[in-house]
Amino acid sequence: MAVTPDLQHTLSKTASLSGTALHTGEKVALKLHPAPADYGIKFKRKDLQDEPTIDAKIENLKMVERATTIGEGSIRVHTVEHVLAALCAMGVDNAIVEMDANEPPICDGSAQAYVDLIRKAGVTAQEEPRKFFDVRDTMHVESKTGALLILLPDDRFRISCTQAGPNNRFAQFLSVEVTPAVFEREIAPARTFVFYEDVKQLMDKNLIKGGSLENAIVVRGEAVLSKEPLRFPDEFVRHKILDIIGDLALVGRRIRGHVVAVRPGHATNADLARSIAREQTRRSAVAAPRTIPSGDGGLDTDQVMQILPHRFPFLMVDRIISFETETKCVGVKTVTINEPFFQGHFPGHPVMPGVMQVEAMAQVASILLFKLAKTTSRIGYFMSADEVKFRKPVLPGDTIFIHAELTKSRGERLAKAKCHCVVNDAIVSEAELMFTFLDK
Ligand SMILES: [Zn+2]
Repeated sequence: MAVTPDLQHTLSKTASLSGTALHTGEKVALKLHPAPADYGIKFKRKDLQDEPTIDAKIENLKMVERATTIGEGSIRVHTVEHVLAALCAMGVDNAIVEMDANEPPICDGSAQAYVDLIRKAGVTAQEEPRKFFDVRDTMHVESKTGALLILLPDDRFRISCTQAGPNNRFAQFLSVEVTPAVFEREIAPARTFVFYEDVKQLMDKNLIKGGSLENAIVVRGEAVLSKEPLRFPDEFVRHKILDIIGDLALVGRRIRGHVVAVRPGHATNADLARSIAREQTRRSAVAAPRTIPSGDGGLDTDQVMQILPHRFPFLMVDRIISFETETKCVGVKTVTINEPFFQGHFPGHPVMPGVMQVEAMAQVASILLFKLAKTTSRIGYFMSADEVKFRKPVLPGDTIFIHAELTKSRGERLAKAKCHCVVNDAIVSEAELMFTFLDK
């Protein structure tokens, strides 16, 4: 079951299981169905008239007490986190989770049954590229009860978690990179656990009718009560990581970043998911403004040409619209049908050559470097272009927002930049460029 990291995936076929719902104690049958690209994960209430679906999106979050509940209108689905964690970690981007009740089966309190189900169904690559959330700046959320989540930039999805019960009993720490193999082996078998102090409260609230030692570990004092022995000495922190994966799946994009969690819970997990979604919306707004800003914050065409030696038809930046910091800026290029390369690339089917986008990224990065070095008497030469990816075609009429960030510079002669191009809110290309600067 190989997952191609850059493409969206769905299930190869439908697979089903049945069991008991945790909160109502009723029998429930669940089916995982394949879904088309860009569909996301949706829960379907087969037991209700018209079989409504609910998007597994943070906007639909309704409640986070002990478990995560999503809903639309008056329709609810409870305890979505374990099935979502399994789908997300096993590489499934698009699926329908059909149920004949308001909650998936709790099974043994872990995500093991869902991993088995996904394996039974199989996972298939689709043609559309995956949507990622790349953490660029540190984000954090904190609760009054001492939960803390920090999200750091990283090119992989990692979670480092510290869990501790009341009076710091059973303090545990684990750090993992979330991949299908690691999830299946290290995280999915970890079961739900409760501290005895909390259980009475839940029973009073009538919240765990289906709960038993079959599907949860109960910790009373120093004693661990469960049907079978602990599956890992640090099973609790593993389950906390499972819940983080499931709750953050509500972001709807694959996270490339490192979550550092201290005593996390569903409420703070959801807060972080909300912050990520908000940041994503903000980025989309920045990526495609209705009006392109001009003035002090950026550079107009004339100023760009004072810095760059490139001229028609090889000037690939119209303007710089903002400098976020000295080492980070966004340029813009409006692509028209009059671009000379469209004549031959291709007649009757104009597509902007990917190498021209790489060139545009290099030019925006050069502007940063020339500004830093306060010189224009040099010319930048490419040394290498790594991690180059072309995700979507760029067509006449598109406006490209070219993001560049200098990640390394050695003296004034050598620089590395991480760049990406955005059209209509989607990354169309990206690259890591290295160049050297020589006197003209
Ligand atoms: Zn859980």
